[in-house]
Amino acid sequence: MALIVHKYGGTSMGSTDRIRNVAKRVAKWARAGHQMVVVPSAMSGETNRLLGLAKELAPSSGSAELNREFDMIASTGEQVSVGLLAIALQAEGIEAVSYTGWQVPLNTDSSYTKARIESIEDSRVRADLAAGKVVVIAGFQGVDDEMNITTLGRGGSDTSAVAIAAAMKAAECLIYTDVDGVYTTDPRIVPEARRLHTISFEEMLEMASLGSKILQIRSVEFAGKYRVPLRVLSSFTPWDIDIEEEAKSGTLISFEEDEKMEQAVVSGIAFNRDEAKVTLLGVPDKPGIAYQILGPVAEANIDIDVIIQNVSQEGKTDFSFTVHRNDYARTMALLEGTVGPATQAAKVQGDPKICKVSIVGIGMRSHVGVASKMFRALSEEGINIQMISTSEIKTSVVIDEKYMELAVRALHKAFELEKDPV
Ligand code: ADP
Ligand code: ASP
Ligand code: MG
Repeated sequence: MALIVHKYGGTSMGSTDRIRNVAKRVAKWARAGHQMVVVPSAMSGETNRLLGLAKELAPSSGSAELNREFDMIASTGEQVSVGLLAIALQAEGIEAVSYTGWQVPLNTDSSYTKARIESIEDSRVRADLAAGKVVVIAGFQGVDDEMNITTLGRGGSDTSAVAIAAAMKAAECLIYTDVDGVYTTDPRIVPEARRLHTISFEEMLEMASLGSKILQIRSVEFAGKYRVPLRVLSSFTPWDIDIEEEAKSGTLISFEEDEKMEQAVVSGIAFNRDEAKVTLLGVPDKPGIAYQILGPVAEANIDIDVIIQNVSQEGKTDFSFTVHRNDYARTMALLEGTVGPATQAAKVQGDPKICKVSIVGIGMRSHVGVASKMFRALSEEGINIQMISTSEIKTSVVIDEKYMELAVRALHKAFELEKDPV
């Protein structure tokens, strides 16, 4: 008998029929003798609907007070889900109880809309499990020191599930979703994408941080820090499939660099259209200029991603960087208002219609020429590269947003990711 955490995403919870199916699957695991904690997301589309209502009424400038209310509203999606799932489990003859984040409690900091989990008090949950109940805990939410409801950022139910699994030392955390595992890239963009039986933790971390929405980045970070056995699998298989078979299906996030692991140079392609590019043209090329530009941006709590500075000509240079698209207007206002004039920039330019496409693979460490193969594949499609950023196990390019799908397909083909590595 083991303690197992299941997480079900929005599509898996998308209708009462689907919730009934989730309940039947969880009941199967409970009847097999496991202690079960289940973390569902809001029903698909619900978080967007709720935030849409909030935005209709919101003032144009954001604030912590406003974000507090966004969290108050968005968190109700998961509250409905836990109640429905607990009822569906009871209808299956399984004792079940539901909790919101604050009832557990799952403690977070106060950064509304992107709160971080600080601790989880599991005594109430443990008591229920000991009494033979299935415990259903709302994903995506927690509570801060002042009893304010917080949410963990979009896709945050993954993180709730892994954090609960870590805190409770669960034997495994199974992330049930609408695809049957982690693929070489999003199968919605490349139908030939191939499912990976295992993916190394480092690669999964890169894929998630570079925009692959299959797992929220923080859930992968938690899994790494606390060594939580983590698997991504489908909630659309028949609920009554053999439990042993189900436990081995999908994609395992592996912490061991096993020789048997699929040894491709490039394991996957991630993409992200949530970024925007800003450029300061004709800034003086002198010590301290990067700090003069990026210091105020960081002070305004704006995260910076790719940075590029050109070689200087006649003592002047161009300086570009990318930020989240949500921060684009704020960044432009900052550059046009104070930073541009302070640095004597000749001009401030912005482009929100960019995207970042990345190839990821631990095999890149020991292979040369991977990046140039990437650049060739893009040039053959006539795609202009605006920025490049590399690390040991990834190469990212910033390109025009309209070429994103073309780039992902071309790279998938160039690296023959549809084929099993030998
Ligand atoms: P859930 O609601 O279950 O959390 P998400 O929509 O957040 O599901 O994540 C699952 C989706 O992630 C898939 O439907 C797929 O389109 C997308 N996705 C992006 N990259 C990948 C990838 N490399 N492998 C599999 N799915 C991916
Ligand atoms: N319901 C939340 C969202 O849509 C959390 C999640 O699905 O993981 O972002
Ligand atoms: Mg998700």
